[in-house]
Amino acid sequence: MKIGIDIDNVIANTFVDLAARFNEYMGRELSPSEVVEVMRREKLRMWGYWFLTWRKRLLTQVSVIDGAGETIREWHREHEIVLVTSRLPVLNRQTRQWLAQNSIPYHELHHSKETLKHRKSGACDIFIEDNLEECQVLADHCPTVFLMDHPWNRRPLGKSNIVRVSGWGQIREALKH
Ligand SMILES: [Mg+2]
Repeated sequence: MKIGIDIDNVIANTFVDLAARFNEYMGRELSPSEVVEVMRREKLRMWGYWFLTWRKRLLTQVSVIDGAGETIREWHREHEIVLVTSRLPVLNRQTRQWLAQNSIPYHELHHSKETLKHRKSGACDIFIEDNLEECQVLADHCPTVFLMDHPWNRRPLGKSNIVRVSGWGQIREALKH
């Protein structure tokens, strides 16, 4: 099987771990859902934040979401693992370093604009993602798309092959059947 996987908030606990940094940069107290909103709306201001992230190497410091490491290590022996992130390409080195640091193996790593991940990944049998809009596009290209449940994606799924999951344990279970 070819398995496509997003990185932020699917493998890496990015929002949870960096929320305080982000709020400090923005000078406001934002909830995780508001952070997603602001990141999309205030693109120009985000360049400053990404620069800070790059300079302080923040992405090398985030934690791994429970179950992600073990599952990907196990899958990697039998399946093709394609990581697709919407992080800017300038963050590629930190991303690769973080993956190595946490012993997360993969066959390919791509950077993509939001909602265009299917172009980089090619046809995947399954894809795991936390951005609902991305899932809705991926659902036209992959038979099964798992949406990692987070406060910012709690809206109707819109497509029958999108499956909302609470975590990695649930994905492992679903794939056994
Ligand atoms: Mg994500």
